[in-house]
Amino acid sequence: MGAHPENQVRRRIALIAHDNCKADIAEWARFNRALLAQHDLVATGTTGQLLTAELGLPVTCLHSGPLGGDQQIGARIAEGEVDILIFFWDPLEPHPHDPDVKALLRLAVAWNIPVACNRSSADYLISSPLFARRYDRRQPDFTDYARRGWSALAASADQVA
Ligand code: PGA
Repeated sequence: MGAHPENQVRRRIALIAHDNCKADIAEWARFNRALLAQHDLVATGTTGQLLTAELGLPVTCLHSGPLGGDQQIGARIAEGEVDILIFFWDPLEPHPHDPDVKALLRLAVAWNIPVACNRSSADYLISSPLFARRYDRRQPDFTDYARRGWSALAASADQVA
């Protein structure tokens, strides 16, 4: 029996691969083309161009990673515009934008976004039954955290006054 239309979901998938991992993500995406075609894809610049050429699918291309693309994806996560992050980062080489990589991974964890950082985890993620149907991701509530920061600021302003 096919999935009920109500349960069919269009996910917003962000894709990034460092240069040494681009062949890997291209192969992975080719293999999963039919599935990826059912979702909205966004990627950092060079990864996005590669995937557009490989898949013949529309991919929203942001800036290249070192020029701010990772941060753009991080911002989209914080704005609630990304459902899944596929990020093949290179464990063997340093990059000029390593702080951005860390920031992006931190935001994905903070906002409870599923992340796959290598092919096997990407395979597990997109073949999960939860990927194929509606899944209500638990949305973290940062209200207390934000309030705490504001109270600390107000307290230090009182001390200065
Ligand atoms: P790129 O960026 O897709 O533009 O190569 C990826 C990265 O290095 O973060």
